[in-house]
Formats: sequence, C-alpha cells, structure tokens
Amino acid sequence: MSYHANEKGYYGEFGGAFIPEMLFPNCEELRQNYVQVMETDEFRREFQQLLKDYVGRPTPLYFAERLSEKYQTKIYLKREDLCHTGAHKVNNTIGQILMAKKLGKNRIIAETGAGQHGVATATVCALMGIECVVYMGEIDIARQAPNVARMKMLGAEVRPAKSGSRTLKDATNEAIRDWINNPVDTHYIIGSVVGPHPYPDMVARFQSVISEEVKWQLKEKEGREHPDYVVACVGGGSNAAGIYYHYLDTPEVGIIAVEAAGKGINSGESAATSALGKVGIIHGSKTLLMQTPDGQITEPYSISAGLDYPGVGPMHAHLFKSGRGEFISITDDDAMTAGLELSQLEGIIPAIETSHAFAIFNHRKFDKDAVVVINLSGRGDKDLNTYIGYFKI
Ligand SMILES: *Cc1c(COP(=O)(O)O)cnc(C)c1O
Repeated sequence: MSYHANEKGYYGEFGGAFIPEMLFPNCEELRQNYVQVMETDEFRREFQQLLKDYVGRPTPLYFAERLSEKYQTKIYLKREDLCHTGAHKVNNTIGQILMAKKLGKNRIIAETGAGQHGVATATVCALMGIECVVYMGEIDIARQAPNVARMKMLGAEVRPAKSGSRTLKDATNEAIRDWINNPVDTHYIIGSVVGPHPYPDMVARFQSVISEEVKWQLKEKEGREHPDYVVACVGGGSNAAGIYYHYLDTPEVGIIAVEAAGKGINSGESAATSALGKVGIIHGSKTLLMQTPDGQITEPYSISAGLDYPGVGPMHAHLFKSGRGEFISITDDDAMTAGLELSQLEGIIPAIETSHAFAIFNHRKFDKDAVVVINLSGRGDKDLNTYIGYFKI
C-alpha cells in the first residue's frame, strides 16, 4: 500500500478535488504544472537557497538529554521553532511563492485563522515584492491583534470576513470567492496539507525537507537514517506530513499523530478529528471531519489556535484508517503541563500546538533504546499570554 497521493490526489479513499466548477481552471493549472515546476533544477536551486539563507535551514536535530533521562528513552527534537518567523509554516509559503512566480502570478491571497499562516504568507510576499491580501474572520482579527499588526507591518492587506461565524471558515469562503474572480493573476496560498488536489501533495512535498534533513542528521548521530518513531501534532497536518514524508513507506518507522482533545474527547469541546470524525468534504477534499449526524461541520475547540480545525488533511485520514499511523489525543491541561516541562527541562518554550506532541510521554511507554524524533513545530513566544494566564505566572 502507498501512503503518497496518487495522480488524482487520493490517499486511499481520501483526498480528491471537490470544488465548484468555477474554480476548476485555477486548480487544474496548478495540478498540471506543480510537479514539473518543482522538479526543475532552477526551482530546486532557488528553493534550497532561500531555505538556507532566509529560513535558516537545516534546522538542528537536537538530542534532549534531560527529557530522555526522565522518560527513559532516546528523544530527539527537530527544531522547526528555529525557522524564520518561528515555525515550520514558512517552508511551505516559500515554496508556494516561488511556484506562483513560475506560473506568472503577481498577486497572492491567503486565509488565516490564528494569523500564523497569514504572517508566513505576508513575509514571503514582502520578500518577493508581491501584492498580498489575507482574509481573516472579523472575530479572529479582534482576538489575534499582534499577528494582524505583523501582517500590516509586512505590507499585507488584511480583509475582514464579516459573514457567518466570522472565523476561519468564512475567511476561506471569501478567499475562494476572490480566487474565482481573479483566476489569471492570483495564486491562493493554502497553509496546510488540506484543500483540493494538488494542495495536500504540494504542501507535503514542500514540508518534506524536514524528514529529508532528519535522515542525514540521525545518520550522523545514531548511525542510522531511520528512527523508531516520528511524532508530530496535527492540526491540518503539515508539520506532521513533513516529518513523516520520507518514512511513510518504511514500516519499521512508527508514525505517531497527536491531536487536540481540548477539554476531553467527549466534552463537546475538542478537535480530536480521528476519534470523532466521519467521512465528509471540507475545503474541497474528502477526509475525516467532525460533523453533526446531518453533516453540518462541528465547531472545533482547542486551547491552541493552530490545532483548532474540524478536519485533518487526507494523508492523515488515510494513515488513521489504514492503521499506519497511531493517533493519540491530548487535552489542553496535559499539553500545557508538557509545555512547562519542556521549558524547564530543556530551556525551550514550545508553541502550545507543539506541547501536545510532548504530552505523549505520559500516555505511552517507549523502550529504553528506542529513538523517538519529535517535530518541534514552533516556538512559544506567540503563546506567552496563554501560558501566563494558565499557570498564573
Ligand atoms: C499552524 C501550526 C501547527 C498546526 O498546523 P499543521 O498544518 O498541522 O502543522 C502546529 N504547530 C505550530 C507551531 C503551528 O504554527
């Protein structure tokens, strides 16, 4: 069985492109070109150069000695928190802005919930001198003022979505409307391994630099390219796709996906998609999503804005359904405790999304000589107020 997307963008039964007819030309142009463009020498060279000089790659693979000592297993951290802008998201936006340029686009749109993807998009548009419009729900604009300020400072226009619940899903609708109206000059940068084909596969390929580096870095440190486990938190699933990518078809590497259980899987306030999700269509893709019996998407909840998403990318739905991936859900409380523990054992304050991944050590045992690589997807600066409020620091 393959765990990569096929020609039509399917991972097993999940994926595809369920889009309105008016969006078909846009997706089709991208679908016909993305692999070919990415595989040209020129594209590779430019992408690698920017990842090195602008993003700061390769990011270190760090052996966490004190954490390993505490949990009696060998824990390595892949330091995506050290990327420019503080998380893995920029790997994808760099790739997509180069793709947009190669396809002759001179205008970028994006949608954002918490603002992290909006900032990563505004950053690369500033880098390239390309016009940038970011759609964001009116409620999210009020909640995420620092990221709105960042986007504006970077020269992007932030357009409020004023309909519906005025959050991410409404911002997505506005972005799609914009794209339909501007099919020739505009590229839509999607921020995770979600959306219609070819987005999940394209974003996974851009993020796959993470596991490409882990392979040679682990070889240097452990004498082998293959860890026993790779672990990541899953919102839409892009940082996870990045660290799984080169191990998907290597069954001896265990894949662990960590979802947000919020206040508890059965509390009615969670984002544990694999535990609660049913097959449905969201953002143009067939996948697992949280929905009511009559198919309305359920409002997700997590203390971390980046995991607060009602679906998962189709790759992850397939990893779950096929049993290739082991899915664990972690509550807000357990994540926060793990974030504080990492801060005090290793001197690294993680993003709250990432803290979920670290909480698995209290839920699952590993052999003493097992090599476990955790994707440290982002740094916690953006979450300081939440940590402060939670721990009353
Ligand atoms: C956005 C974000 C996530 C969740 O997005 P994925 O696409 O699932 O990776 C996780 N960690 C951090 C630090 C983020 O900013």
